[in-house]
Amino acid sequence: MAAFQSTRKIPQGTELLSLIIAVLVVSLIGGLSYQTWLTFNRGSEKLANIREVVKSTNALLSSLKDAETGQRGFLLTGQDRYLKPYRQALTDIPANLKALNDATAAGSPDQAARVAALRPRIQEKLDELKQTIDIRQTKGFDAAVAVVLTDRGKAQMDQIRELCSEILTVALDGLAEYSAKTSSSAHRLGLVSTIGSGGLLVLLIFSTITIQRATRRRLELIRSLVESEDRTKEARDWLQTTIGSIGDGVIATDAHGNVTLLNGVSESLTGWTIDHAAGLPLDRIFPISNEETGAVVENPVSKVLREGRVAGLANHTLLTSRDGRQIPIDDSAAPIRDGTGKIIGVVLVFRDITERRKVEVRDKESAAALARQAELLARTNADLEQFAYSASHDLQEPLRMIANYSQLLIRGYRGRLDDEAGLCVRYITEGTQRMQDLLADLLAYTQLGADAHDSAEIVDLSAVYEKVIQNLKAAIEESGATVTCDGLPRVHGHEAQFIQLFQNLIGNAIKYRSDSPLRIHIAAEEMDGHWRLAVTDNGIGIPPEYHRKIFGVFKRLHGKTIPGTGIGLAICQRVVERTGGRIWVESEPGRGATFYFTLTRD
Ligand code: ADP
Repeated sequence: MAAFQSTRKIPQGTELLSLIIAVLVVSLIGGLSYQTWLTFNRGSEKLANIREVVKSTNALLSSLKDAETGQRGFLLTGQDRYLKPYRQALTDIPANLKALNDATAAGSPDQAARVAALRPRIQEKLDELKQTIDIRQTKGFDAAVAVVLTDRGKAQMDQIRELCSEILTVALDGLAEYSAKTSSSAHRLGLVSTIGSGGLLVLLIFSTITIQRATRRRLELIRSLVESEDRTKEARDWLQTTIGSIGDGVIATDAHGNVTLLNGVSESLTGWTIDHAAGLPLDRIFPISNEETGAVVENPVSKVLREGRVAGLANHTLLTSRDGRQIPIDDSAAPIRDGTGKIIGVVLVFRDITERRKVEVRDKESAAALARQAELLARTNADLEQFAYSASHDLQEPLRMIANYSQLLIRGYRGRLDDEAGLCVRYITEGTQRMQDLLADLLAYTQLGADAHDSAEIVDLSAVYEKVIQNLKAAIEESGATVTCDGLPRVHGHEAQFIQLFQNLIGNAIKYRSDSPLRIHIAAEEMDGHWRLAVTDNGIGIPPEYHRKIFGVFKRLHGKTIPGTGIGLAICQRVVERTGGRIWVESEPGRGATFYFTLTRD
């Protein structure tokens, strides 16, 4: 195509002009040739006439001479045999005169007048000849010679010659004129023919070039047409292969909803082949109905043709195949438009959703089973919490008794218990104390669950922070910690729980400090619609593998040397999660720890 476009174009006007010029030149040459032919034609008639005039004039003169010669011979000899040419001339001369008369009658009137003038002169001459012959016969030689010597006959003959000479001169002048005319006409024809031939030669060369270019252009056009046909075929093959490879059924129709294409999947789902279905209305090969009511459903192609936009099927549609199978399908149809936007057909894409239906049913069943399990779990959790609450609450009383009686034992038997018994009692007291701490924390933890439905309030976290610092005053002073805090927000929740949260995190930072002077910082940052708070310390840090575990109940890393129950972070997690947030730690051993938690923004 590119090659075709690059060929220099000869304007069509130039070709037309060349043709017109060629026709004009040929017409001119033809016209001139015809004119020349006419001139020659007319000339040849005239020429024949002139020839006839000359011939009959000369014949006339010759006959007269013969007559005169015969007369002279007879006059001299008196013998009759000399009169033979004379008598012959008497027969020829009228014929010659007639021929001359006929030849000049077709020519100019002057010539006819000359012939008319010639006729009496000849008669006179013939009369003179006859008279002298008669005198010779009757009166003898001398009498006849006397008549001859009068020169009357010679004068007559001279007049005749003169007239004949005029006739011949005029005839030869006509011949010369004809010759000049034909020669000029031939010359003109030659000139025009030469120039015309030159022009025609130029036009012929130009036309040859034009024809060659046009031929080349036509060949290029044919080649590009063949190429574009190949490309179209390739595109068609590609499209058919693509449509054939699609896992969904594809049916195309024309603008009247009659089938034009069916891919392999649609053939197997509808039970129709393209050979049988082509040209049939879509309803024939694609009957669909509502799965629940059995009512006939309008096919989407009609809808697309009516509304001019993409249309999908309602849920629960069944396709009835040619062999009576009922297949649940899902589909959509879209208009096919040409370059001007006019709808020239519709393409319908549909798929068999039998398997999907089965999966949906299975999913529904598993969701129900999951919900049942979750409910069971929640109930078990509630029971467990209730149990833990009762246990921690009810166990406190006997523990308090053990602690009280241990104190009584120490105080009542002061100095009377030996060392071993004293050590045993001290262990009992410490164990009891530890058990009491555990139960108190456990109770606090389970109570968080029990309070779950209490109404929340707006809590000022700065005030919470101040209270916690006050609570931990002794520990802070004893550790020499520097605790700093950015401005903290006001959030929804329970103040007591936020106090537990802050106190556990700051308390842990103090407990798990390193040898470096302790610095604790509390910061708050607003992110994506919530607050993110961070409690950062420069303490001993936590190895990454424990970052999640430490939030579990009773999970401790440094249990031996540092007092604690392992419930503090579990309480923190519960407080945060109850407000809809989450808590996590980022830390490395020896590099301190930052506990992050998020709280919903009001
Ligand atoms: P505990 O009563 O032991 O402090 P927690 O639930 O509060 O229980 O903490 C669980 C464990 O997490 C702790 O035993 C400790 O090993 C670790 N931990 C908590 N806070 C920190 C911290 N700021 N720095 C280092 N380790 C910490």
